[in-house]
Amino acid sequence: MRVLVTGAAGYIGSVTTEVLLGAGHEVIALDSLELGHRAAVREDAAFVQADVRDHDAMFAVFAKHHPEAVLHFAAYTLVPESMERPAAYFANNVGGVCNLFDAMLAHQCYRFVLSSSCTVFGEPEHMPVTEDLPRKALNPYGASKIMIEEMTEWHAQLSGLRAAILRYFNPAGASERFGEDRAHETHLVPLALAVAQGKYPHVTVLGTDYPTPDGTCIRDYIHIVDLAEAHVSALEALNRHELLALNLGTGRGASVLEVLAATRRVTGHPIPAINGPRRPGGADSPAIWADPTRARTLLGWQATRSLDEMIASAWAWRQHHPRGYEAD
Ligand code: NAD
Repeated sequence: MRVLVTGAAGYIGSVTTEVLLGAGHEVIALDSLELGHRAAVREDAAFVQADVRDHDAMFAVFAKHHPEAVLHFAAYTLVPESMERPAAYFANNVGGVCNLFDAMLAHQCYRFVLSSSCTVFGEPEHMPVTEDLPRKALNPYGASKIMIEEMTEWHAQLSGLRAAILRYFNPAGASERFGEDRAHETHLVPLALAVAQGKYPHVTVLGTDYPTPDGTCIRDYIHIVDLAEAHVSALEALNRHELLALNLGTGRGASVLEVLAATRRVTGHPIPAINGPRRPGGADSPAIWADPTRARTLLGWQATRSLDEMIASAWAWRQHHPRGYEAD
């Protein structure tokens, strides 16, 4: 299938592009390069530098490449930044999807796979998180994802769109070629590895007074290659399903302290950590992990790689790319 991948030069888009190409799909890789890296896009994907906020540019991409499906990763993704610049998050994340839907429907492209997030559940009523729990935003980033999910559902109902809403839990790790490289990093695994590389003296644990066994937040980390493979399965599942909403995780949670212990085990580095306060504004729920049963049942997919494998793959990538993509 000919697939338009937006945000293809970013972390998850780059690995998913690689896995799509490996599965025999043709990829049009689109990115503004505001946050992504040209070197993160495989040479055998057609690359388009464009901004999804640019309505005319989106129509031009569809008129030229005639994609049969869209995998939409392009977005602003950082929770703390979304608390400081909410309008920018709504303009990019929600505005971008408006343009995409317009261009898709005008060019008879009816298959859509959406990058959503477990953050749409806020502080979930029960664990593990099933897909039927109510959505509740704790920050503008989460609110933008809820809006996009609802827009997708309306278009599935009214416009004949076939859509898979994929709620990622916490992606981590790397493929052999592509990894995580942000100018402003807030994710735990790359921050801990940056300490192991000697870039920072320590990791700050953001909150040690959460109602969890060791007082730190619990998240469900999922290997980036497992996540990318789920996208290929979801695309194929749109032959059978009109609208899917799926939680993509392993079904197991790990606390911040457990992730730091695993990172020390894998790297052999002491990775000093200091305790800090919670992030402001109740931005973090104490514990969240997925019930991945629905994804297993409907996609025949499940995550197979462990936390240590995630960290080892990210560490291997970091050692091959000590300055990220900068030197490529
Ligand atoms: P990323 O920042 O690495 O990649 C996003 C890419 O989108 C970047 O290359 C950026 O240049 C591009 N982009 C942003 N705005 C654009 C625009 N207007 N036009 C064109 N390109 C644009 O982020 P990521 O971690 O790969 O996240 C990808 C998707 O997955 C996002 O939608 C994010 O919300 C979602 N997600 C990520 C996580 C995570 O922990 N990484 C968790 C849940 C959901």
